Amino acid sequence: MRKFFKGLATLFVVMLVAGFIFLNWPLWQRSVPQAQNDEPVDVVLIGGGIMSVTLATLLQELEPDWRMQLYERLDGVALESSNGWNNAGTGHSGFAELNYTPEADDGSIETARAVNIAEQFEVSRQFWAHQVQQGRLSTPSDFINPTPHVSFVWGDENIEFLRKRHEAITKNPLFYGMEYSEDHGKIAEWAPLLMEGRDPQQRVAATYMPLGTDVNFGVITEQLTQALQKSPNFDVELQSEVTALRQNDDKTWNVTIRNLATGDEHTVKSRFVFIGAGGASLHLLQMSGIPEAANYGGFPVGGQFLAFDNPAIAGRHDVKAYGMAETGAPPMSVPHLDARRLDGKDVTLFGPFALFSTKFLKEGSWWDLFASVNNDNVLGMMRVGSHNLDLVTYLAEQARLTDDDRHAELVKYYPQAKREDWRLVTAGQRVQVIKRDPEDGTVLQFGTEVVADQDRTIAALLGASPGASTSPPIMVNLLDRIFPQQMDAGWRERLSEIIPSYGRKLNESAELTNEIRRMTSSALSLPYLDVPTQTDAPADADDAKPLAQDQPGGDQPAGLSPEPWSAQPAPVPGQNQNREMQAL
Ligand SMILES: Cc1cc2nc3c(=O)[nH]c(=O)nc-3n(C[C@H](O)[C@H](O)[C@H](O)COP(=O)(O)OP(=O)(O)OC[C@H]3O[C@@H](n4cnc5c(N)ncnc54)[C@H](O)[C@@H]3O)c2cc1C
Repeated sequence: MRKFFKGLATLFVVMLVAGFIFLNWPLWQRSVPQAQNDEPVDVVLIGGGIMSVTLATLLQELEPDWRMQLYERLDGVALESSNGWNNAGTGHSGFAELNYTPEADDGSIETARAVNIAEQFEVSRQFWAHQVQQGRLSTPSDFINPTPHVSFVWGDENIEFLRKRHEAITKNPLFYGMEYSEDHGKIAEWAPLLMEGRDPQQRVAATYMPLGTDVNFGVITEQLTQALQKSPNFDVELQSEVTALRQNDDKTWNVTIRNLATGDEHTVKSRFVFIGAGGASLHLLQMSGIPEAANYGGFPVGGQFLAFDNPAIAGRHDVKAYGMAETGAPPMSVPHLDARRLDGKDVTLFGPFALFSTKFLKEGSWWDLFASVNNDNVLGMMRVGSHNLDLVTYLAEQARLTDDDRHAELVKYYPQAKREDWRLVTAGQRVQVIKRDPEDGTVLQFGTEVVADQDRTIAALLGASPGASTSPPIMVNLLDRIFPQQMDAGWRERLSEIIPSYGRKLNESAELTNEIRRMTSSALSLPYLDVPTQTDAPADADDAKPLAQDQPGGDQPAGLSPEPWSAQPAPVPGQNQNREMQAL
């Protein structure tokens, strides 16, 4: 017996020592080959997802002479989260995502976050419109398609919430045109699959925003990469994994890359490094050894969707219908039945279902989560775990879901769904940010965050929500933060040409909203709705008329039917009802 306890005690001590070494292992101290270039390149971008290529595109427009290198570990760009099949493709604008508008204790609806997301998406629209005009992005319907955003709820409490939300949010110009209904027939017009086979006695409510979009972020990433490569100053190396980062005395960075095909390693010196490695960004940030990295940990949550590509059914569902999150479910798990355009086909997706995995990338390692735990974040991560037990429970429940359970969720939104028509697809991995917070200790965060060093020589993008939809404003903010001198020396003026509303808020002016949306709708072949302005004469809903062809943005592209937009938007309290709506 004594021998047994002695053995147990020895094992305990060995594990303690091993744990101590593991937690304190300095990732940034491995030896790396000498840099092969004496003169540093201007920028190294790690990862071929939408974030890196958006930043690279902006930088190439601002400084065409800068030399930039992008390294991607897989065989192509956009194969992780940015790939069309690996995310939900929602152009997040706060139109339908109910988690962006929480109910305050006094029963009022907080709209600030939804307005902020809508503002950011307007920046993305301008950035993509500019890229179309510059020929870097091709036919808009290849990557962005009009797809009305619907919120759909049942149950008295949820219906009351949605009614109040609609009332509060439509006071904002960016949300003008959103309709509300509790009428089964009306909701069936917007989204027939939601209503067919539903109990006629069930109380339901929906809002309908005709200006919603479905976006293929993978196509954007691929096309922008091709455009970047036309410059001799930009180079992409695939199958090239960044394995080490080391800062030199002159503040430049040595970036070591392993060629995964040959196993060879080489090192490149760079003035600035952007870590846009998706879920793997945390690991690379820790590898850099910058003090700011000590404030972060990460928690992976994968996603799965049920997919259905029967054109007969997919053609009858042309909206994204968002519901309410289950209690304890993280915000990105809100169920939605989505019309998508993928690989040239109409597809219907339902989900996401959370997938627990310790990988930080879909093509990552099962060790990713464990390798990210160190002496700086271990206590904080444990604390976050214990403070988010509902999330832990939710993930455990999701992990136990059977095909029957998933189908039972689906029929709540599409009552006549047939189980055999649907297949389960695994989407990308998100790594949620765990962050030291001066007030709350350590918190789990669902947004995105740019972490940079004090000298502004390296920056990493952590988190994934609202994600790709807001990649352009995220990168514009990064420019502001990392390159203040260049911004003062002329970048701001140039940015105003790329993003005409730069520095202004659309939501503060109906005129500006109209001016910018008219322009982007025209360039991206999206529908347009005129928001009533202070100077509009009071008018009746019947006055709604198509834009004159000679008005800016008034051309209607071939193939876009105005029919889906003929439904008249709900009046906005306190505003004129002079509505113009037209597919541009
Ligand atoms: C299930 C799901 C649904 C989503 N839905 C939406 C949505 O509806 N709307 C929305 O806007 N966003 C959505 N998102 C978020 C969105 O997909 C991400 O925010 C976005 O794609 C992240 O882009 P990225 O460039 O940072 O990362 P990624 O696209 O993941 O690219 C990172 C790249 O870095 C590479 N890499 C990693 N490590 C290294 C290394 N060491 N060396 C070299 N290369 C490396 C990877 O291989 C990868 O190609 C969703 C995400 C998920 C998972």
